Amino acid sequence: MKLAVIGTGYVGLVSGVCFTLNGNHVICVDKDQEKISKLNRMESPIYEPGIEALIEMNLREGRLSFSADLQDSVRRSDIVILAVGTPSLPNGEADLRYIEGAAAEIGQAMEGYKIIMTKSTVPVGTNEKIRSMIAAHTNHPFDIVSAPEFLREGSAIQDTLHPDRIIIGLDNPALEDTMRELHKGFTDNVFVTDIRSAEMIKYASNAFLATKISFINEIANICEKVGADVTEVAQGMGMDRRIGSSFLQAGIGYGGSCFPKDTNALIQIAGNVDYEFKLLESVVEVNKGQRFMIISKLHESLGSLRGAVIGIWGLAFKPNTDDVREAPAREIVEALVAEGATVKLYDPIAADNFRQQYDHPNLRWCGLPEEAAAGSDAVCLLTDWSVFKDINLHKLAESMRRQVLIDGRNVYSKEQIEGTGLTYHSVGRPQMG
Ligand code: NAD
Repeated sequence: MKLAVIGTGYVGLVSGVCFTLNGNHVICVDKDQEKISKLNRMESPIYEPGIEALIEMNLREGRLSFSADLQDSVRRSDIVILAVGTPSLPNGEADLRYIEGAAAEIGQAMEGYKIIMTKSTVPVGTNEKIRSMIAAHTNHPFDIVSAPEFLREGSAIQDTLHPDRIIIGLDNPALEDTMRELHKGFTDNVFVTDIRSAEMIKYASNAFLATKISFINEIANICEKVGADVTEVAQGMGMDRRIGSSFLQAGIGYGGSCFPKDTNALIQIAGNVDYEFKLLESVVEVNKGQRFMIISKLHESLGSLRGAVIGIWGLAFKPNTDDVREAPAREIVEALVAEGATVKLYDPIAADNFRQQYDHPNLRWCGLPEEAAAGSDAVCLLTDWSVFKDINLHKLAESMRRQVLIDGRNVYSKEQIEGTGLTYHSVGRPQMG
């Protein structure tokens, strides 16, 4: 099949590239000409492990191309996939301006029948709006499919090629075979439903995962007060198949471009039909507070932070991505600066993106984790990049001015900390040293 994927961000680029692997011809479209030029030079505008090799292979083999011309790409395709961003408006609602812009352009470009498939996360009812917006510009026939995306940054290729399930929302049953064919080889686990339910499945799934995270973080906070160890608690809970062990890692809370915006959007979706989603409101509230436990623990060990030097390990919202959208690191670093600390920052991949969003004279940018730690009063680990797991903690302690390690992701074991001389705080586990 011939596909046009509109938007070459984390979802569009990975999906577009992966759809070439099961025999389709794909044009990845972006209005950002700089991204398209980079891609044509076989450079990925995003960091995603494995993506550049796949781009190179598929470009060379002629199954993949990149274009900034949406209308021409639509005309040359059978299926048009919407993968543009749907960020938050200030009130938490999803901002649909990129969806609306792309839908109008698709309508203007239509020549003959097309399937329009939405991968972007959109509020319930949006696909019907997309249908009206396209229809306002064309008399050509088309169908709408909702196919929300569940990939995770950092393992996006694997998630796309081997997803747990594909959700397909449609109102024309004749499309079901085409949709199964499109995803052939990825999984047979295709769940076909109506469009509104498909839109809701995406929000409900992200809200549920966010709830698991805030739940275990609250359990962690209680564990600290009653002397239990949350990693033991989570392990014991996760052995129950009804609960499952994933998303039970206590830490400084979730961030990124999906959970914060999708939880807020679902609260708004509920609010628009006069339903107060109290549980989810609490999940968001708990998450907002959780990151500041880093600051409380610093106060506990160091007292005032004025004049203190704090090393920060990790700026991305999670490992294996350069994405810093809604990363907890941002508010933590801002709070440290506001309290008069000098902050030494290290991230293996995301430092440039972070710096473009936030810089300050009190920040020192470091090329190695050891450099961020040297001479610091405390080091705070905010993202569990694997590089931090192998740090020599004895040497770390020797290089610091005061020996405080705040592990916001529970990376280190008791055995690794013992004998290092570090005062070690983690999340929901007993303090050491
Ligand atoms: P992104 O911001 O990385 O990329 C969006 C791209 O769309 C940008 O490159 C932008 O230039 C382009 N764009 C906007 N309007 C356009 C237009 N009219 N024509 C062509 N290109 C246009 O976004 P993302 O992180 O890939 O997310 C896309 C959607 O997928 C969102 O709705 C998001 O919620 C959802 N989603 C994201 C993830 C994730 O992990 N990032 C996972 C699942 C679902």
